[in-house]
Amino acid sequence: MSDLNAHLLPGLTHWQAPSFAAWYPAHTTYPGLLGELLSGAINAIGFSWASCPAGTELESIVLDWLADALALPAAFRTHHDGEEGGGARGPGGGVIQCTASDAVLVALLAAKARALGGWVAAAPGGGGGGAGDAAAALAATRLVAYTSDQAHSCVRKACMVAGIAHLRELPTREEDGWSLRAPALEAALAADAAAGLTPCFVVATIGTTATCAVDDVAGIGACLATSFPEEEGGGGGGGAPGRPWLHVDGAYAGTAAVCPEHRPQPAWAGLSSADSFSTNAHKALLTPFDCAPLWVADATHLRSALSLTPSFLRGTANDLDFRDWQVPLGRRLRSLKLWMVLRTYGRSGLQAFVRHAAGLAERFEAHVASDARFEVAAPRRLGLVCFRLAGGDPGASKATAALVEALNAGGKAMMVTAEVGGRTLARAAWGGAGTQARHVDGAWAAVVAALEGMGGGSV
Ligand code: PLP
Repeated sequence: MSDLNAHLLPGLTHWQAPSFAAWYPAHTTYPGLLGELLSGAINAIGFSWASCPAGTELESIVLDWLADALALPAAFRTHHDGEEGGGARGPGGGVIQCTASDAVLVALLAAKARALGGWVAAAPGGGGGGAGDAAAALAATRLVAYTSDQAHSCVRKACMVAGIAHLRELPTREEDGWSLRAPALEAALAADAAAGLTPCFVVATIGTTATCAVDDVAGIGACLATSFPEEEGGGGGGGAPGRPWLHVDGAYAGTAAVCPEHRPQPAWAGLSSADSFSTNAHKALLTPFDCAPLWVADATHLRSALSLTPSFLRGTANDLDFRDWQVPLGRRLRSLKLWMVLRTYGRSGLQAFVRHAAGLAERFEAHVASDARFEVAAPRRLGLVCFRLAGGDPGASKATAALVEALNAGGKAMMVTAEVGGRTLARAAWGGAGTQARHVDGAWAAVVAALEGMGGGSV
């Protein structure tokens, strides 16, 4: 411990410090830590139902609870008779991925398998280099993915990993609150169809990383339904193109839907048109990293993309062999910490925490609005306030970047910048597990002091 204190802690970025407002939060809480400790002690590796029966069942049960608390569509539930963990299993369900990036990658792999009629390169039984393989491999080069220019970089990375050559990062506009709207998607789908390409995967975001913008999920779902009517569906196979897979990334803002007033409508209702949805319990739901629930309406395509049964795993097949729902084989018992968090705080405790974080952001925004040297730079949502120094660009962008650098060098608070629409914004993401109003006030005082240290704020 003396080595830890002397050598390691001074060199860490302190995510649990109450005036840490960089990126998005990551919570350490007592029930979450206890869950991690027990999970480490039990250390059951749940690649299949048989390798971790109760842990696998617990995962599907807590994700059904969370799906209910977030008012997700019924298709995302594993169990359908209202009884916890019992009764009929539907085609869909939830699984805990390590990160939101994994969730997006896994959804893309399922989308790709669906678009290619179940063909997966190098899958057992295929890959012989026959004419069918050559045609499918060629079809794979024509697949296109769509998202917004505000989407997280994990969408591009998923395309890099999955070998998707065409990614459209569709433009958003300040007057739409940086939200992706259906007409931009509709135009891109039409242009690609005319060019002989195959739309395969669409990622909409609820709560973008830079400004917490919410894409028009309902409009995007309706656009896909109109452009790809169901009777034409089926995916690949040489017939009419199937409907692209719609994934909704709610990494940060998704868990805030425990509060009905934080279900942004009509986007939230539009989730009924999504094939999959993911969020990070490790960002704003009091659960330590890593815990990224992913729900799918139909796991069939996940299995076609990812199922592989080596001889040492034969004979115990189960629908809930989670190795078929993720990239790695091994997996941690992550459901334990989520279970402990949900059981300890309950729905009302989680709601109170989300409202507390939103209140802190409102307080910080009021500080910004009260000082003419600053401006609020994007609509505030949940715990995130985007602000910048007032004045024209490029001066204001440069000065805002310098301000955040000076603030962070001072060590009293930490924030980061983002580039949106060619301008630099400062982001203050409130909602640390221990953050109180006095920390927000102290961080604002540190921002003002940093500005005055730079010469008073003329830009
Ligand atoms: N999606 C969004 C909207 C995010 O804000 C983030 C991270 O901040 C991610 C995805 C990536 O999250 P993870 O680190 O869990 O992959």
